[in-house]
Amino acid sequence: SNIVVAIDGYSSCGKSTLAKALAKTLNFIYVDSGAMYRAVTLYFLRNHIDISNEIAVMDAMQAIELNFNARDYESHITLNGEEVSEEIRGMLVSDAVSEVSANKWVRQEMVRQQQRMGQSKNLVMDGRDIGTTVFPDAQVKFFMTADPKVRAERRYKELAAKANNQVTLEEVFENLAHRDYADTTRKESPLTRADDAIILDNTEMTPREQLDFAAGHVRP
Ligand code: C5P
Repeated sequence: SNIVVAIDGYSSCGKSTLAKALAKTLNFIYVDSGAMYRAVTLYFLRNHIDISNEIAVMDAMQAIELNFNARDYESHITLNGEEVSEEIRGMLVSDAVSEVSANKWVRQEMVRQQQRMGQSKNLVMDGRDIGTTVFPDAQVKFFMTADPKVRAERRYKELAAKANNQVTLEEVFENLAHRDYADTTRKESPLTRADDAIILDNTEMTPREQLDFAAGHVRP
């Protein structure tokens, strides 16, 4: 049967960098589950969906169609046919995503879609609840961590590389701290390490070292 590699961990730990490299190396499909929550959040912001209104949230989930371009490893995602990969990385979405992703109906629908993707294909999926809730029986699970200051600096450099970006290092650090707190304390599948997940602290590791470490656990 097909193989699922689950990568979970805190915000901006390099999960997607590792997941992409690993998927490429193994010739697996890469699924960025965070991009799905971000795209849903963008829809909620644009359409002024009141998160406390259950009916409105359920209706919205019916009206949203997400698709990945499976042919690349860059997690390009479309929201009802529109390419939103750039927009979902902005601070507007980053500041609202924790609240939206804590919603029970949002999670239920995302988990359902994610499980369907893993039914027949080999894939690497990264997120917060992949090894615990989405694929509790995944063959290989990693739980990534890194020093919070190092994580903020990495993400800041990424954002600063983009044109007309106004964000400060301080704001990035605050956003990561806020999301980690919200993700680990929420009621619906909070971020936690699965008992059988391999811990990977990459504070002092290069991307190459992380890939070699991870691939070594997937290969028989
Ligand atoms: O991975 P990324 O940082 O892009 O995820 C954005 C947000 O989406 C996280 O802060 C978290 O609140 C939510 N998320 C989640 N479950 C996942 C993936 C992401 O709740 N599997």
